[in-house]
Amino acid sequence: MRIAMIGTGYVGLVSGACFADFGHSVCCIDKDAAKIDGLNAGRMPIWEPGLEAIVKANADRGRLTFSKELGQGVGDAEAVFIAVGTPARRGDGHADLTYVFDAVRELAKVIKPGTVVVTKSTVPVGTGDQIEQILREEGVTEVSVASNPEFLREGAAIADFKHPDRIVVGAEDARAREVLTEIYRPLFLNRAPILFTGRRTAELTKYAANAFLAVKISFINEIADLCEAVDADVQDVARGIGLDNRIGPKFLHAGPGYGGSCFPKDTLALLKTADSAGVDQRIVRTTVQVNDDRKESMVERVARAIGGNLEGKRVGVLGLAFKPNTDDMREAPSIPLIKALVERGAEVSAFDPVAREQAERVFDGIHFASDAYEAAADADALVIVTEWDEFRALDLDKIAGSLRGKVLVDLRNVYDRGEAEEAGLAYYGIGRGKLGHA
Ligand code: NAD
Repeated sequence: MRIAMIGTGYVGLVSGACFADFGHSVCCIDKDAAKIDGLNAGRMPIWEPGLEAIVKANADRGRLTFSKELGQGVGDAEAVFIAVGTPARRGDGHADLTYVFDAVRELAKVIKPGTVVVTKSTVPVGTGDQIEQILREEGVTEVSVASNPEFLREGAAIADFKHPDRIVVGAEDARAREVLTEIYRPLFLNRAPILFTGRRTAELTKYAANAFLAVKISFINEIADLCEAVDADVQDVARGIGLDNRIGPKFLHAGPGYGGSCFPKDTLALLKTADSAGVDQRIVRTTVQVNDDRKESMVERVARAIGGNLEGKRVGVLGLAFKPNTDDMREAPSIPLIKALVERGAEVSAFDPVAREQAERVFDGIHFASDAYEAAADADALVIVTEWDEFRALDLDKIAGSLRGKVLVDLRNVYDRGEAEEAGLAYYGIGRGKLGHA
């Protein structure tokens, strides 16, 4: 199949490269000229494990090309995917569809009859209808509009794309179903479940999935708070409930609250959809509140662990990206924590294995260390914010030797209290008994 991908970000580039790897001919388009020039010169715009190899291999085979020009990129594509950003609209939390609709208007000028337009971006229910209407207004007929929401996770994007739990296709006509079946045939042959639904249902399914995962995280975070009050261990509670097949073990890791480019904005957008439909979504509404409060409250844990006053204290921070294996800083829990530390007079020395460049755009007045031990040097406390693998195997004796105050605040429960204490560190985890309550 000939495929055009409008938007060459985390989703567009991964999807485009994987489709090319399936054997399709793909052109990834982006209006960010620097991104396309970089890709044409072999430079990846994002840090994602395995991406560079698959991009280069398919570019070398001539199956993956990059273009700044939508007209040139779309050419005679049988399917045009839209994978542009849909951030929260400033002020009200609605999904901002400006990028989607701008792309559709541009597309209208070049699209040929018979093409299937597919939204891969996460878009609110009814967006497919609006796209159809824009195309009609622009005089375009005989194209299908389908929804194919993406469920990949940054940090494991290639594996997720190639071995998805499911593929959801929302289509209103046979042509769209046929084209998408053909595009996903390699996965179909691998027995990946493909779920065909109506377009509006597919659009809502994506939001429901993210909202449910956000609920799960906030649920275990609240249980962690209870564990701290009643002297129980949330790690064991999570395991005890997670072994129940009806619950499952994933997304039951207590921590500093969820962040990233999806959950925060998608939960808000779902609430807006519900408001417009006149249906209250109390569980999701509460989840958003619980998570916002949690992220804001992490600074208190650090303050309590070092005696209350942050003024003039030095705090080492390990991990800035919103999760491991990505350089994505969007809505990262490190942001409210570090900003509050700085506001309250602390000096921050932070280290992240790959997100430094992105983080430098977010933080002013902090020191960027070149490794975990430098971040710990002379600090009154070391705080683990993102659970990169390399932070799981720190030499705790060396860390204790570098620290001025022997305090480890482990917001990801990477370490056991015993091993930290053996190294001479006071240990404050999340939800790990009364002593864990920093
Ligand atoms: P991103 O910001 O990394 O990439 C979007 C790209 O689209 C940018 O490079 C931008 O320059 C480009 N763009 C915008 N308007 C354009 C236009 N008119 N023509 C050409 N290019 C244009 O965003 P992302 O993280 O890849 O997310 C894209 C969509 O996928 C969002 O709706 C998001 O919610 C959804 N999604 C993201 C993830 C994820 O993990 N990042 C997972 C699933 C779904």
